[in-house]
Amino acid sequence: MPSLKHVCVFCGSSMGAKPAYAQAAEALGRLLAQRGLGLVYGGGDVGLMGVLARAALAAGGEVTGVIPEALQKMEGVGHLELTNLHVVGSMHDRKALMAELSDAFIALPGGIGTLEELFEVWTWGQLGLHPKPLGFLDVDGYYDHLHAFLDHSQAQGFLRDRHRAMAAVESDPATLLARLDAYQPPAIVQIIARDTA
Ligand code: AMP
Repeated sequence: MPSLKHVCVFCGSSMGAKPAYAQAAEALGRLLAQRGLGLVYGGGDVGLMGVLARAALAAGGEVTGVIPEALQKMEGVGHLELTNLHVVGSMHDRKALMAELSDAFIALPGGIGTLEELFEVWTWGQLGLHPKPLGFLDVDGYYDHLHAFLDHSQAQGFLRDRHRAMAAVESDPATLLARLDAYQPPAIVQIIARDTA
């Protein structure tokens, strides 16, 4: 059973169309802080990323940002007093460091950046490169269409049941955290992750 200490959250650099998205980002940031879990995120103060980080900081949480040098200005880095800020050389370095620093991964609603980030850690899990849990915090059915597509992918034989099952989908932050904490990677993933560590 994972013992979570640091949770990476990927989310939109925009606020999205509904207030419910920011409310969920705020609730998740606060919950992580209340549980004593460190937040690892993209480091900026834009969109849901800023809401999430501000909520975790306001609740006394530890917040670590990881940002490529070139994005610092665009994503409002420096507006927030983060606990730790890592300025890295590239998007690839960003994702690698976020993955290394984190014990679990959550996607809040977001755009293609958010999807790309969660799908990358999911595919690394599928390949057995890590045994860490991941999931979607689905707010107001934002991810319904994506999961309908993944049903299709599964039905068409491109996505295995055991790989689909690696990603939890919940609408309540506490339920999602409980599922991530209880995650047991498939035995094969545990073996590959151990042998490649
Ligand atoms: P979005 O969900 O598109 O609003 O983007 C959310 C976050 O993902 C922002 O911090 C973007 O800088 C980041 N992002 C976008 N594309 C990538 C990428 N290829 N690799 C890493 N981060 C990315």
